Amino acid sequence: MARLTEIEWEKFEELPLEAKRPYLERSVGDSMPYHTLFAQQFDRPLLDRLVALSNRIRFIAKSREGSLFLKSFLSHKRAMLYFSQPSSRTFLSHLAACQILGLTTGSVRDAATSSEFKGESREDSIRTFSSYFDMIIMRSPEQGLAEKMAWELSNSDRPIPILNAGSGKDQHPTQALLDIYTLVRSFETKGGLDGRTVTFCGDLLRGRTVRSLSYLLTNFKDVKQIFVAPKELQVPEDVTAILAEKGVPFEITDDLRAATRVSDAIYMTRIQDEWDSAKGESAKIDTSRFKFGAEELACLGPDGIIMHPLPRRDEIATCCDRDPRAMYWRQMRNGMWIRTALIAATFGLEKDILNCGY
Ligand code: ASP
Repeated sequence: MARLTEIEWEKFEELPLEAKRPYLERSVGDSMPYHTLFAQQFDRPLLDRLVALSNRIRFIAKSREGSLFLKSFLSHKRAMLYFSQPSSRTFLSHLAACQILGLTTGSVRDAATSSEFKGESREDSIRTFSSYFDMIIMRSPEQGLAEKMAWELSNSDRPIPILNAGSGKDQHPTQALLDIYTLVRSFETKGGLDGRTVTFCGDLLRGRTVRSLSYLLTNFKDVKQIFVAPKELQVPEDVTAILAEKGVPFEITDDLRAATRVSDAIYMTRIQDEWDSAKGESAKIDTSRFKFGAEELACLGPDGIIMHPLPRRDEIATCCDRDPRAMYWRQMRNGMWIRTALIAATFGLEKDILNCGY
């Protein structure tokens, strides 16, 4: 079995994502990740395992005894949250996930308060954190940094797991996990997620959550994907190339209402203008037809759901918020549970938790 210590960085970096997967596994023969870096690490059996573990954890956490029991699992471990890009939900839900399992945490949220301000490289900062902590949960504007650090740490005398909490415009694997968890739970008693249609709408070009979720959905049978966006922000080719290669049906359109009529889930996203190359560039694009309001809600079927990775601006009207089909609030809480499951599994606790007496 391949390990990250057995391959040169230059060779590893060049591999297609799926080929990198075995290098990142927790233990030989077990596909559970040690480092979680991108959505391509998760196949259907692994997703099913994480969903089952999340359900188990949230059930155990219902009682005081259960919560205290969960806290005992990792009270001897420490996690570092290194977020050098803005975050509310991803930061807080990872923090809460650590607290559920008893992990003590430290955090850096602003490079100006760390030695990076004195000219230290991100690589050196992360290497420093590994001296004091047992896991690094990191968000960075730099695509590929989490991967490089995973390789570095695996090849150091103190290997610790890296969890990618958002890398550039590229990937957001734990958001995709919580999105899948939300979809699975929403359709659990209605025949499941297989065979459904999921529509993505908004800035599909620069939304990393879209890339990661689109990939994870390919693990489900006959799930069609529809991409609704202004042409300047349509889904990039690297995403559709994977769908074409896997024989996943997809459609590209600019008609949100028509897409809503045939969809089971609508995944709205905001305009990612922090990536504009010139200030105000996105503001010139007409996005008025890519917002979900009362008229779009009327097009959605009774079992349909509305999702959003958040933060939202005006792409979902607040009049939708109280509709039982609005799933974006529950999505946040689901994120806490599946991130707890992922952290527990990363530390090898999957069986202990599943088989405990609760
Ligand atoms: N919170 C998500 C992210 O970090 C979505 C967004 O920011 O629009 O990518």
